[in-house]
Amino acid sequence: MTLKDSVISAKIKRKKWKAFRDHALERMPEECIGLFECLEHNGKYEITNVYPCRNVARNKKIEGKISKPEMRELKKLISRGERKGFKYGIYHSHPLSGSVSLSDVDQFISKIYKLFRMQIILGVTGKRVKKAFWIFQKPNLIEGRIEVI
Ligand SMILES: [Zn+2]
Repeated sequence: MTLKDSVISAKIKRKKWKAFRDHALERMPEECIGLFECLEHNGKYEITNVYPCRNVARNKKIEGKISKPEMRELKKLISRGERKGFKYGIYHSHPLSGSVSLSDVDQFISKIYKLFRMQIILGVTGKRVKKAFWIFQKPNLIEGRIEVI
């Protein structure tokens, strides 16, 4: 496999991207968090849905956490979706740094929890929202590009 072939990319329709962006901007200066759904074919992803969640972390400016009741609901949604071939990951924003890199904690959880193997990070600076798609494929964390279509 050549390097070019191994590049991971994700497509998202403009309207769905707006849902991520709006959520990140609405929650400023706190982190937003939620679930996303996608389809994958040979390393090409299409983000098909976004499910914003409530951030219940103690310090919402530097961390994101989904409540247990909400997570239980998400798990039902995920098991229904997985039967139809969808995959799921977690997104959250970085309102302080504006960076789309994974923090040490983000890297750690992506290697531990299945649901966090795919993450979308939204780096917020003012009204500008940058984005990155991260996938943990043993032993590497790979950054993918998100293309709005
Ligand atoms: Zn983070």
